[in-house]
Amino acid sequence: MAMASRHVLIIGGGLAGPCLALSLARRNIRSTIFEIRPQPSESGGSISLGPNALQVLDRYAGVYYQLRANGFVYNRFGAFTDGGEKLGEISVGEEEKGDEGYPALRIMRSTLHEVLLDAGSKTELVDMRWAARLAKIEENEQGVTAHFEDGTTVTGDILIGADGIHSKVREHILGPEAPTPVFTGTCIVNGFLPASAAITPSPDFTFPAFMFTSSGLFMTIPIDADAKTLAWGITQTSKERTRDEWRDFELSGEAARLAKADFDQIRAQPVRSLLDSADESKAKVWAPYSIPELPRWHTPRVCLIGDAAHALPPNGQGSAMAFEDVAIMTRLITSKEGRSFEQLFERFEAIRRPRIKGIQESSRKGEAMKARTGPVGWYLKKWAFRGFFWWNSGVLKHNKETTYDVEEVDVGGSTPLAQ
Ligand SMILES: Cc1cc2nc3c(=O)[nH]c(=O)nc-3n(C[C@H](O)[C@H](O)[C@H](O)COP(=O)(O)OP(=O)(O)OC[C@H]3O[C@@H](n4cnc5c(N)ncnc54)[C@H](O)[C@@H]3O)c2cc1C
Repeated sequence: MAMASRHVLIIGGGLAGPCLALSLARRNIRSTIFEIRPQPSESGGSISLGPNALQVLDRYAGVYYQLRANGFVYNRFGAFTDGGEKLGEISVGEEEKGDEGYPALRIMRSTLHEVLLDAGSKTELVDMRWAARLAKIEENEQGVTAHFEDGTTVTGDILIGADGIHSKVREHILGPEAPTPVFTGTCIVNGFLPASAAITPSPDFTFPAFMFTSSGLFMTIPIDADAKTLAWGITQTSKERTRDEWRDFELSGEAARLAKADFDQIRAQPVRSLLDSADESKAKVWAPYSIPELPRWHTPRVCLIGDAAHALPPNGQGSAMAFEDVAIMTRLITSKEGRSFEQLFERFEAIRRPRIKGIQESSRKGEAMKARTGPVGWYLKKWAFRGFFWWNSGVLKHNKETTYDVEEVDVGGSTPLAQ
């Protein structure tokens, strides 16, 4: 029975794992997180969290205000052409709605991670084990046991696989059917610069901004509360490389040189000033992989959440989907109805699959906006953009996806909402 849950084993101490542990602790459920790395990772650059992610980080994990103080708060992106013309705005936050609404937040992934881990370290109900490499899982009617490569074992009531794109827990659930991650065909070249390096084209230019150009989409956004540092990013089509090749591509500065060459003919500001100032050897490369749709996400006592279940091509919603999973899983685990764990996990899949599919479809539609275009195509695309924004009275509401409310979802049973 759900409320009989005493100890939840969580494999993966990235974003979803610590968020779930905190959320369960706030409902008096004990968990242990097992992370393969010996210490927190500094990698991951900066990420955007929409209102859907922030709602969970506030009402389930209780860390919203710490995050807000350490990131850049915004509600809209400005959309500009390569001639500096303002097309309109893309609405992503909903703080303007008042007390009920959350904005969007840009923050370093390492800061988000640190805040989650720090909050977890303050409660006895969250135990964190570093350098714990999962070897295998055994489950039966009494419980589930995780075996680690150092020979230790731990038994709990259920096990949640929050172990990301290269999930080992997925292999336990799917056996030989477990698919391997697929390269998305693009990479994101990105970096950080002081805001003083940016020359703005006109007085009405505002950050954050999407610059739609014939060379593709250029994105720039502050990452800190006082907007002193800007992140910039370019999405490029790319061949697949091995892990070492990706590292060389980044460290040698080749990735940044290719990105700069692609944008060489774009004179618009702040694209020009930012790319001219960017140090090629310091630029980063994110080569995203995704997971094909899985036939199932669970066994009787084991269930996947986050990237392990549904890593998507880059769309700014990867972590938000993981956080929404956390809220729904918490509500199911703490539901008062007498359902078996397997029934709860079935319900979890039934709720989350259509939501993930919807996000996947809308990000596929957005792909064309990021792509490089020839002169005729670009002329037509620019008019299409103008028409699109005119039709939407200058504000494109992108927040249908980011304002999804996990508390409006019917999870069945009598479930407590967030406190
Ligand atoms: C550069 C970059 C930029 C991004 N930008 C955005 C953005 O703007 N917005 C957004 O929403 N998302 C963004 N994402 C995606 C987002 O980071 C992921 O979707 C999110 O981290 C998923 O969380 P997760 O907990 O499921 O997986 P992860 O955060 O990847 O955590 C999985 C954890 O499991 C651990 N692990 C793996 N195998 C084992 C094992 N066998 N045993 C124990 N532990 C294991 C890993 O070390 C890792 O710590 C970005 C990602 C990157 C890399």
